[in-house]
Amino acid sequence: MRIAILGATGSIGTQTLDVVRTTLPGAEVVALTGYRNINTLAELANEFMPKMVCVPDSDSATQIKQLLTAPCEVLTGMDGLISCAVQSGADIVVNALVGQAGLAPTLAAINAGKDIALANKETLVTAGQLIMDLARDKGVRIAPIDSEHSAIWQCLQGNEGNEIEKIILTASGGPFRTWSQEKIMAATAKDALRHPNWSMGAKITVDSATLMNKGLELIEAMWLFGEIAGQDRNDSNGIEILIHPQSIIHSMVQFADGSVMAQMGLPDMRLPILYAISASKRVKTGFPRLDFFTCGSLTFEKPDAQRFPCLALAIHAANTGGTLPAVMNTINEWAVGQFLQDKISFYGMSEIIAQAFAAYTVKPLVSIDDVIEAESWANEFIMKNFTQ
Ligand code: NAD
Ligand code: MG
Repeated sequence: MRIAILGATGSIGTQTLDVVRTTLPGAEVVALTGYRNINTLAELANEFMPKMVCVPDSDSATQIKQLLTAPCEVLTGMDGLISCAVQSGADIVVNALVGQAGLAPTLAAINAGKDIALANKETLVTAGQLIMDLARDKGVRIAPIDSEHSAIWQCLQGNEGNEIEKIILTASGGPFRTWSQEKIMAATAKDALRHPNWSMGAKITVDSATLMNKGLELIEAMWLFGEIAGQDRNDSNGIEILIHPQSIIHSMVQFADGSVMAQMGLPDMRLPILYAISASKRVKTGFPRLDFFTCGSLTFEKPDAQRFPCLALAIHAANTGGTLPAVMNTINEWAVGQFLQDKISFYGMSEIIAQAFAAYTVKPLVSIDDVIEAESWANEFIMKNFTQ
């Protein structure tokens, strides 16, 4: 197995490399990419000796060349990311990039017939229909890394042809699950970054605190499983969001006979990563095991879209479809960045998304140009209204 890892220095990227290191000794890492953390990328490249590395620009290329002892080709920018996906000789591309940057390399990899292990949910949020259609045409497998989607995928194994009644997407509820609206109003980035169960990159951690993450995952699930579940892919009705604070059940599928299949495990992203890259094979690991005698009670709650308006906005975008999810994704990415720098409040994020929704005329999503146009509209909206 030859693996290219886009976003190798991040939370999913480094855990993917840990999976390779500890459980897939035969796997060859052929490309690694990073963005700001050049020292980490150099260390990883020196350990895994890929053919190619990619950094954002020529300054970082100069910097990494001084640190590399491995004979890697050093590439830069979006072209470099695409080359790592397409020309590194990989047979599987792990997309662990964060945000909008993930879309173009995913499209290029699918066009080149590479299987994808996809962590970058923003790709499916903005262009799910195009990605899934292209993957089908090219015979490419898109294996989800997101733990909920991996869980659903696992529950569906062996159930081909069986009628699915609903998909139950679980959510931890994030660090503010028990906070009052007044208290959440004053929440800071530091508060939001204290996720109870998972250690992740900053953007997804904030998305988990606003529940935008669950909204993005709802759209991700619609594209990955909507058709299998016999639903219109633009219909979120067959997917229920359930707060489950312990993050032991990673998601569930309810079938026509009333049976519910759940996938459980400790909150450890290495499990869905391994399942995605090993093509649904159960590979033996030494990872910690779930102990039912010590894990305590499993509890469930309804999500509260009043205290977490990003969830309501994302459900609206999911049901509206077209170019609205792409606009939401761009505005959200910017708003999360502002919140992380303490420039806007917690509820400032949902307010800006709601303002954008009110100002935007949704278009059907026919080609990638529609996504690009929607993202440009969102960037201009931000420029006009929120920057001097
Ligand atoms: P992260 O911030 O830890 O890592 C992101 C990676 O992308 C880094 O390697 C960074 O260098 C690179 N990167 C950032 N901006 C870039 C740009 N503009 N161009 C090129 N490279 C860039 O993020 P993460 O937590 O690993 O999340 C990655 C993706 O996986 C996200 O889409 C997230 O929603 C999804 N995901 C993450 C987790 C998790 O546990 N961390 C779980 C489920 C899904
Ligand atoms: Mg998830």
